[in-house]
Amino acid sequence: MATKYVYSFSGGKAEGSSAMRNLLGGKGCELAEMTNLGIAVPPGFTISTEAWAEYERSGRQLPSGLREQVTDALTRLEAATDTRLGDAERPLLVSVRSGARVSMPGMMETVLNLGLNDKTVEGLAAWTGNERFAWDCYRRFVTMFGTVVLGIKREVFDEHLDGLKARLHVKTDPEVPADELKKLTQTFLDIVSGRTGEPFPQDPQQQLERAVRAVFDSWFAKKATEYRRIHGIPPGWGTAVTVMAMVFGNLGEHSGTGVGFTRDPRTGERRFYAEFLVNAQGEDVVAGIRTPEHIDDLRRRMPAIYDELVAIANRLERHYKDMQDIEFTIQEGKLYLLQTRSGKRSGVAAVRVAVDLVRESVIDWHTALLRVRPQELDQLLHPRFDSADKEQAVAHDRLIAKGLPAAPGAAVGHVVFDADRAVEWAKNGEAVVLVRPETSPEDVAGMYAAQGIVTCRGGRTSHAAVVAVGMGKPCVVGAGDIAVDEARRVFEASGRIVREGEVVSVDGGTGEVILDAIKTIDGELTAEFQEFLGWADRVRTLGVRANADTPEDAVKARGFGAEGIGLVRTEHMFFAPERIPIMREMIMAGDSISRRAAIDKLLLFQREDFIGIFRAMDGLPVTIRLLDPPLHEFLTTPKEYKEWIEKRASLDARDMNPAEQRILEEQIAKYEALREANPMLGHRGCRLGITHPEIYGMQVRAIMEAACMVSEQGATVEPEIMIPLTGTVGEMRLTYEHAKKVADGVLAERGVSLKYLIGTMIEVPRAALIADKIAQFADFFSFGTNDLTQMTFGYSRDDVAKFLPDYQRKGILPDDPFFVLDEEGVGELIKIGIDRGRRTRADLKVGLCGEHGGEPSSVKFCDGVNMTYVSCSPYKIPIARLSAAQARIRAREASEANANA
Ligand code: PEP
Ligand code: MG
Repeated sequence: MATKYVYSFSGGKAEGSSAMRNLLGGKGCELAEMTNLGIAVPPGFTISTEAWAEYERSGRQLPSGLREQVTDALTRLEAATDTRLGDAERPLLVSVRSGARVSMPGMMETVLNLGLNDKTVEGLAAWTGNERFAWDCYRRFVTMFGTVVLGIKREVFDEHLDGLKARLHVKTDPEVPADELKKLTQTFLDIVSGRTGEPFPQDPQQQLERAVRAVFDSWFAKKATEYRRIHGIPPGWGTAVTVMAMVFGNLGEHSGTGVGFTRDPRTGERRFYAEFLVNAQGEDVVAGIRTPEHIDDLRRRMPAIYDELVAIANRLERHYKDMQDIEFTIQEGKLYLLQTRSGKRSGVAAVRVAVDLVRESVIDWHTALLRVRPQELDQLLHPRFDSADKEQAVAHDRLIAKGLPAAPGAAVGHVVFDADRAVEWAKNGEAVVLVRPETSPEDVAGMYAAQGIVTCRGGRTSHAAVVAVGMGKPCVVGAGDIAVDEARRVFEASGRIVREGEVVSVDGGTGEVILDAIKTIDGELTAEFQEFLGWADRVRTLGVRANADTPEDAVKARGFGAEGIGLVRTEHMFFAPERIPIMREMIMAGDSISRRAAIDKLLLFQREDFIGIFRAMDGLPVTIRLLDPPLHEFLTTPKEYKEWIEKRASLDARDMNPAEQRILEEQIAKYEALREANPMLGHRGCRLGITHPEIYGMQVRAIMEAACMVSEQGATVEPEIMIPLTGTVGEMRLTYEHAKKVADGVLAERGVSLKYLIGTMIEVPRAALIADKIAQFADFFSFGTNDLTQMTFGYSRDDVAKFLPDYQRKGILPDDPFFVLDEEGVGELIKIGIDRGRRTRADLKVGLCGEHGGEPSSVKFCDGVNMTYVSCSPYKIPIARLSAAQARIRAREASEANANA
């Protein structure tokens, strides 16, 4: 039997339904569903996505049988409307609309008023007795067909319409009289023949076929392709095409068109939120050609229609059990629905609607949990930009750069170019935005002081990104459009010079950098949000911990629901201004006595930090990682090093006193000795602990002394000591035994008994492969997927932004692997690591503490491979909680479906 490509809907009966979304697209299937519900929908038919797929497969040939099926459906449509396509007296006019299975607002094309030509326009005028209306439809049709099908720029037509309105001294389209519209249409027809070399197609059958092809083709348009890439929509889905009888909102004062939401899409508040245009067609609302009236205007003008509309909206919401976004048209006092779909909403609204629908007994809480996209929760915790204000700024050409969105949120502040100045200005009460070519640990204090951070280089796990996410600071990285001139204290972007002190706004959720201040709105952890996350906790089995380096972050993390700390990066504690000199003293120490003295001082600082963190996490586990970065990072910055060299070379050096000169020489020599060609693969992690056991010894002592002290004060402490970058059993064994000896020593000295663990990060591919052997000396594993991704791909974390965008554009990588866990490669190593590790130790605790711990699809993966927990920055905790809950619900659904099959 021939494939059925065309599905009709008319007069209360449809061949399709909501269940056929993949075949009929969102628009097509819901028009069918509404028809079956008895709601007034203009009749029509939908050409399936299967037809599109065949069209695509055959090199853009319409599939055989499609023309015949369309002719049949058209005949039925003509019968239902008592009109005929191309008829000179009662012409049928149709709209030709795109509709993929997921909504892609504004990305694909639509043609309205199809069926008009030089003859039918006269027929329409005579039949309706409204000449102005007929010519209004024709000029609209020529414009849309001209742009969508024939590829002429819309502005070419709009220029003439605008010129005409100016000449007539009128503001809106409805004020243009019939004879002028007639002349305008003639101009449009001339434009088409002038541009295409052919007259405007007069045969409605031909118009229809070309419009269907154009809508099919709009799937391949650049904007649609880009949208799919960003939203992860497979290119093979394609679009359906719905052809439906036109109903006219532009028939006069008793006609109109509008769009509405069953709840406020910005806040989730339960109220009909809609806009309406009298005497207009739908494109006018969408295109923003006229400013729509408030819906109350409809209530005043046509109270009965308004009540009917609200009743239908409520009915649709109850039927679909979700907030709906509807499109409607009123033709001479009769209401028609043209579309319904689940309404797009802000993160705040998504949570509120889901919770309210549970309270209203419309959905259960499992369904509610699946209704919110985890990423959207970000918006609830961070201040965000007022969207109208931002749109205006962009419209006024103030968007000056776009980089990678590294840490969400809205920041407004004065531009500064170095960390010291950021600290200094912030102390004076100024809001600052730190703009750097890239950041290093030296900049951390400045990053803390800043409202937001922008870097010109680096990817989403570059230093700036990781630290900013941890701090919950809006951050844009890899903004290659920005060229910083540190010496002149300016940056150049999009041809503009921005000086230090000028104000910029940074949107860390989109990567945009905008000139001047944009209004912000605060985020909050509302009661609904808490309730919602409480449901997530009831269903998930994967634990959620936080990456936190300070007691303040630990408190914050706990507030967001962290069940422990999965990573304390101890090196961050050494960069505070009063500590870094001691760290340098230790590194520079010429003999064991002075080194010991420096280490003893560091121990006191570390112990203080750990005490604060243990207290904040009373009753919960805290994983503390021993020192990881190479020592030269603490000694100096490349900039400072350059200054040393210049100082040595300058004449002044001769006048330098000998002691000062000796120190300088020693510093330079030490730095040169420590400097590495490839520090990421250099003398770092446990390698450092093995060559400098005194450093790890000091840290373990500080951890255990702090644990004893806090435990003696009555709190419950669960320290987990973590060794970074292990790659061999020898490393693990040595560091494990050393740490254990020190830890047991402290417990014995203090006479305290408490349980502690010693485990390792799995960041080197080799460690995953020999996990069974490593597990002999590790009480737990934590996958450091930042480094594991770096070493599995061989991509430097800090340089990946140079080629990644190109890789994504060319389809080599679907996502940034430093952001979305690469399941195929890195994931495979994780599975091997867990499997082999648990072969040795069945109860091995396994976590993940790379940036992926707060990314929904990566969390789902972690749930699927039976990890114990994920650990992420405090602000990502709600996302991880919800992602873990969704993963469980979906896994259960899948296993139930399997059992039933
Ligand atoms: C990691 O490598 O995933 C990790 C958490 O450690 P860091 O980012 O500090 O290297
Ligand atoms: Mg690491």
